[in-house]
Amino acid sequence: MTSNRVLLKNGQGAICFSRIRCGKPGCRCARGKLHGPYAYRFYRDRQGRLHRQYIPKDRVAQALADQEKARDAVMVCRNFFRANWTEYRRVRAEINDMTRPYRNYLKEYQR
Ligand SMILES: [Zn+2]
Repeated sequence: MTSNRVLLKNGQGAICFSRIRCGKPGCRCARGKLHGPYAYRFYRDRQGRLHRQYIPKDRVAQALADQEKARDAVMVCRNFFRANWTEYRRVRAEINDMTRPYRNYLKEYQR
């Protein structure tokens, strides 16, 4: 696992995007073209052990929105889907939809 980028943190852990080396000889990743990025949630259990949980690509928007940081989430998703703008716009719209109640709540609260 290389190129960890810690992006969002809350009490439950952090969502990170990583590029990986699969280890197969002759694979493009052995020559430096790594796979991914893939999204993972890192969290600690009660004993303090660190766990890593893979987040499937179609759950990334939900996972980011769950962190209730819409603006960060959109930035993160932009990096994540850099190579695929159609997908980026779809996920951005998804995040905006999911975080709208939260943003409205914030607006009310700040009034
Ligand atoms: Zn590989």
